[in-house]
Amino acid sequence: SLQCGIVGLPNVGKSTLFNAISSGKAEAANYPFCTIEPNVGVVTVPDERLEILTGLVKPQKVLPTIIEFVDIAGLVKGASQGAGLGNKFLANIREVDAIVHVIRCFQDDNVVHVEGRVDPVFDKEIIDIELQLKDLESVNKKIQKVEKGARAGDAKAKADLEILKQYKEALEAGRSARTLPFTPEEREGAIGDLQLLTIKPVLYVANVDEASMISGNEFSEKLREAVKDENAEVITLCAAIEEQIAEIEDPEEQAMFLNEYGLQESGLSRLIKASYSLLNLITYFTAGVKEVRAWTIQRGWKAPQAAGVIHTDFEKGFIRAEVIKLPDYVQYKTEAGVKEVGKMAVEGKEYVVKDGDIMHFRFNV
Ligand code: GDP
Repeated sequence: SLQCGIVGLPNVGKSTLFNAISSGKAEAANYPFCTIEPNVGVVTVPDERLEILTGLVKPQKVLPTIIEFVDIAGLVKGASQGAGLGNKFLANIREVDAIVHVIRCFQDDNVVHVEGRVDPVFDKEIIDIELQLKDLESVNKKIQKVEKGARAGDAKAKADLEILKQYKEALEAGRSARTLPFTPEEREGAIGDLQLLTIKPVLYVANVDEASMISGNEFSEKLREAVKDENAEVITLCAAIEEQIAEIEDPEEQAMFLNEYGLQESGLSRLIKASYSLLNLITYFTAGVKEVRAWTIQRGWKAPQAAGVIHTDFEKGFIRAEVIKLPDYVQYKTEAGVKEVGKMAVEGKEYVVKDGDIMHFRFNV
């Protein structure tokens, strides 16, 4: 499943946020393929549509989609040169699909700041620079490899070299690889094999004090301003409060708690949803009396590929898909009811699955 790595300097609130994530844990037993390790927290993706569908179908079992968060602690200044457990942590980052960068935006004299003062933009840059230096190493190595071919007149090597040089220049100037406007094809050729760290999509978490949870504060504003050209989202939350929210098991009590703080939704829930859309993911549903389930796919996938996340046989033997839209399900109550009024579409191999589709696949075995 989808993995997000939580990074940030020491003492910014990573563990606190991770605890919040871990206590809202999904029942891992239902998801045999997810990693069960102490530094991995599995959370379900909140989805109102799944609740509506469950209310209609009343299945024995409901399975939301999940995201895994990996606590990548220990990233410090000098990590790219091996400081701390630098290389190990950088290797951990290589494995994840997206980065959640936690930044301290709260003042608390009892909590030591590694750099001596609260400065979110400076903190963010420390981490960025470590990742950029590591990427620069990879890019330089690749340049050396490609140069030979380029000198010999190889057209592809020449084209790749041009692109690589631009990455080098950007990284040297303190810009992350994700900010360069190359097409996926251009990228694939030049840097596809490098697994760059700074090309991964990033989401910033401004960890503010309790009093600034809703409005944000001067620190979170500075951070927002600093990243406004990065095309990255900033989520403002208070990790300490999120930890308390997550400990409340009863949903009604949890809603009351949120209400007392003037919150509509927990920060964690916003974080999960933002991670999901950051990666351009959408959800489709399967609905039967045994199980109603949400499935994650990439936006733009066609029906057979989408079927493949359930089982590879579904993709290989794909015949057609029957598709119902949720509003029709709500209006006509049952699959049979929807079918009767002709609102169930029958789609072929070329159908692009839409967010929220309720799918039923027909396939050959
Ligand atoms: P990590 O090193 O990034 O994992 O940071 P921790 O989660 O261990 O937090 C470091 C310290 O900051 C702990 O003493 C936390 O209780 C405290 N802390 C974390 N989040 C908040 C917050 O939102 N507000 C305040 N005041 N303290 C926090």
